Amino acid sequence: MTTAAAYAAPSAKAPLERTTVERRPVGEYDVRIDIKYAGICHSDIHQAHDGWGGSQFPMVPGHEIAGVVAEVGAKVTKYAVGDRVGVGCFVDSCRECEYCLQGLEQYCVEGNTQTYNDRDRNGEPTYGGYSSHIVVDENYVLRIPDGLSLDVAAPLLCAGITTYSPLKHWNAGPGKKVAVIGLGGLGHMAVKIAHALGAEVTVLSQSLRKKDDGLRLGADHYYATSDPKTFEELAGTFDLILSTVSAPLDFGGYLALLKTDGALVNVGAPEEPVSLNLFSLIGGRKTLAGSLIGGIAETQEMLDFCAEHGLGAEIELISADRINEAYERVLASDVRYRFVIDTSTI
Ligand SMILES: [Zn+2]
Ligand SMILES: [Zn+2]
Repeated sequence: MTTAAAYAAPSAKAPLERTTVERRPVGEYDVRIDIKYAGICHSDIHQAHDGWGGSQFPMVPGHEIAGVVAEVGAKVTKYAVGDRVGVGCFVDSCRECEYCLQGLEQYCVEGNTQTYNDRDRNGEPTYGGYSSHIVVDENYVLRIPDGLSLDVAAPLLCAGITTYSPLKHWNAGPGKKVAVIGLGGLGHMAVKIAHALGAEVTVLSQSLRKKDDGLRLGADHYYATSDPKTFEELAGTFDLILSTVSAPLDFGGYLALLKTDGALVNVGAPEEPVSLNLFSLIGGRKTLAGSLIGGIAETQEMLDFCAEHGLGAEIELISADRINEAYERVLASDVRYRFVIDTSTI
């Protein structure tokens, strides 16, 4: 075992504080990673606040991890000491089910092992990236291409893949009109990636406050959803709408913005159930769908794509003693567009 410095929530809604956690010894197929940067994802806050229920404490959040390999197990073949690597939202899965075998480990029938707030396959608690180092099986480690700085790469491990996977699955590309609801941590990556894929991109945001940013990040159009004229003007426009917000939406209103056969895909999850008049799907053969992060192979594909196109997250780098302040600011939508912790300050 090794002792890692960490920031942890001791109980639900309690401020995070400096502590230590034990990491398992480096096994035959394990990689020990010196963490350099960890992104702050909105879901870190949901879980630290026990907003979804079932949270385990103490909790070391963090599933947007970038660092450097410090030690490898005897049978590791994919990585060597000094490699630049990342870890995303999960660190293991059953490896045998039909989804694992297809590279869709995020949909493992046994459930994947979450990077934090979970138990590993030996029943030990998992602790995330707000920490000095982590030990992960090599099959669940990603390679960060040289063209990407580690600090702006960290948020790609959740925000990047969460948006890349549905954009690819629903064929965002040349000739396709894609709308992104919400310009936050997920939304700003969705805009960058959809633009790089060649789609015509529209941001649908509550106000025009971030319009300049949205256009700079690659959007072709920017509309305020607080303006009812937006919904008249854009009726029947989009092939794909990606919702990155966790607030409950007027789904009927947004479905009306789709073309026939269009899809409205949710990657943000409201805490409350929603209601929907199914006529908004039937007329126009429309799809209302969801999508969860991405598998390991697709996450690597996303990192390679982002490096090729020069896409990193827009970040605000903070020291660890500002994590609690950062949480308040994320909840107030006061971040452009991702806080990243310099883990050397933990
Ligand atoms: Zn996340
Ligand atoms: Zn599986």
